Amino acid sequence: MIGVMVPSGSSIWDSRCNDSLPNYPQTCITNYCKTGEYMNNCNYLPLRNLSGVDLSNTDLHKANFRGDDLSGTNFSNADLTNANLSGADLTDADLTNANLSGASLSGANLSGANLSGANLSGASLYGANLSGADLTDADLTNVDLSNTVLYNAANIPFRNFDLQKKLNQYWYCLIGDYSGPNNPDCVKYDERHVVGISPTEITSYQIEKDSTLTIVYEDSDMSKKLEIFRDQKLHQHLWDMYTSITPPEILSELIYFVVYTDDYGGEVALVSRDTDNPLKFYLSVDPVDVGPSGIKLDKQFYVSTLIHENAHILSLNENQGDNKSLSEDDASTPETYKQQMKNAEYSCAPNYYNDLAGCMKESSYLNAFYQEFWAEIYHDFKWALEFDDYETFSEHNTEFYLKYQKYWLTVYSSENPDEDFAESFMAFVLKEKPSAPTFAEQKILFFYQYPELVEMRDFIRSSIATSEFCNNDNVWKDQKCRQPVPATPQQQPTPQQQPTPQQQPTPQQQPTPQQQPTPQQQPTPQQQPTPQQQPTPQQQSQQSENGGCLIATATYGSEMANEVQQLRELRDNQLLQTESGTAFIIAFNDIYYSFSPVIADYERENPYFKEAVKLAITPMISSLSLMQNAESESEVLSIGISVIMLNLGMYLGVPAIVIVGIRKINYID
Ligand SMILES: [Zn+2]
Repeated sequence: MIGVMVPSGSSIWDSRCNDSLPNYPQTCITNYCKTGEYMNNCNYLPLRNLSGVDLSNTDLHKANFRGDDLSGTNFSNADLTNANLSGADLTDADLTNANLSGASLSGANLSGANLSGANLSGASLYGANLSGADLTDADLTNVDLSNTVLYNAANIPFRNFDLQKKLNQYWYCLIGDYSGPNNPDCVKYDERHVVGISPTEITSYQIEKDSTLTIVYEDSDMSKKLEIFRDQKLHQHLWDMYTSITPPEILSELIYFVVYTDDYGGEVALVSRDTDNPLKFYLSVDPVDVGPSGIKLDKQFYVSTLIHENAHILSLNENQGDNKSLSEDDASTPETYKQQMKNAEYSCAPNYYNDLAGCMKESSYLNAFYQEFWAEIYHDFKWALEFDDYETFSEHNTEFYLKYQKYWLTVYSSENPDEDFAESFMAFVLKEKPSAPTFAEQKILFFYQYPELVEMRDFIRSSIATSEFCNNDNVWKDQKCRQPVPATPQQQPTPQQQPTPQQQPTPQQQPTPQQQPTPQQQPTPQQQPTPQQQPTPQQQSQQSENGGCLIATATYGSEMANEVQQLRELRDNQLLQTESGTAFIIAFNDIYYSFSPVIADYERENPYFKEAVKLAITPMISSLSLMQNAESESEVLSIGISVIMLNLGMYLGVPAIVIVGIRKINYID
């Protein structure tokens, strides 16, 4: 009987079907009502066009509506559990209180649809268009909203999780962990983007009082390969994205915006104090890192990096310390730097001394952070400027990282207290407030003791939500996209007032031709921030050999970053949650540190050995991932023991073989 054309006007309906479906062949309707799986057999029947039809209260579970025109169809209270609606046109459909749990709606057009009260738990909305849809009281538990267009969707049930999911993507994208949530918007580190140029200051802008930019320098003789990055529209876009997520009190600390590149990889962005205005900052960003195509920006990576940079301005601005920075002479050699730094630290003690901001005030954010998390381990730490080159520092710092593994939220956190503060602030902004914090996550909770920083967090998160979910000049406010309320400075501001929406421009919507003046061929020297040409100690204070705070794509993008992240998660989520797991870690560390210095020495002397150790570590980490399945005490113990045995074999066995190999290689040489 299936697929047989039934004359229209048939009126025998399955009892579960809505009998308000006149003129549709009974066979097909009955079949898809029962199982939903025979709908395709109706393809040649006229009933395929269900647009505008009343299917309310109908049992349509597992129904196949793939690619169908269902615009304006009434599905209210219908059971669409596990139905296939992918690619369907559901424009203006009424899905009020419909049960769509487990349904596939990927690529469906739901613009203007009414989903209020609908159950979408577990549904896939990948790539679906929900612009203008009404989501009042809809259940979005576990919904896949990746790539979903939510422009102007009304009443997104913001239980912190959909925005949080998006912000988690930002986080994982920045730290280079691509094993996390499926995130098509994250641009992975790719060495093919290397341009092959020497460091170049492309364009520099002075920041006016109203946050507009005035060009003060442009490289007139730079490599042709960088031509696509000498685009003032691109620069304006970079700047607009920055201002959109930057609280006014931080923005007011900046006086220059510098577009600078050291090629792909390396430095992504930095802030430092300006040579001529040592109480104010410049922000330098590398367009090759944050938008290798010269057109599309790697938004998640860029925005996360900017949050990190803003944390530096927050913690190192003129109000935070006595501003007695080290002079240029102090950093002329590692020895003089070390000596001057020690002197300065001595006279500042017990407060934290920073070579940019000077002796930190006792109540400053950075000093409070230092006292809580660094004071006890600082004696083991060394600054990058104490070394002749960055690589030697890196080797030292890797050991420091490993020794205090449980302290770090990211690989970059162990770089120094300033970077740890910035990474922790970034985690505070992007991540959910930890309910059962690990040791490292105490650093996230640290920021919650400051109401003004919690407010700043809300501001930044709202700004990101605006850029992700709203358009037509709407802003994310009170968990919805709303029309902005014009600022009324004449009125007495109430303390509850939210940041004015004008501070959250979307880059495309604010063409500002007056901000693109003609390039000055001969800028006056005073106006030039020249961070790259003459590094001063202030500029070097954030510890890289070429000056300034950096988030190295090389660090995060390296093949090890994922593994280190994996290890840390394993340690925090599994091992340290149980007694035997904790004991395992202690035992493991004892064994590891008993011979890791030896390995480190070999590594320094011989690059072949270094590669070999890398090879040896990789299976160890893979074997540790077995532990992720361990839940109970006994499982932790038994799997833990096997893992440690396995690794003992690998560590003691593999390097021995390798040493033989090295001898052979040396002999051939
Ligand atoms: Zn930094």
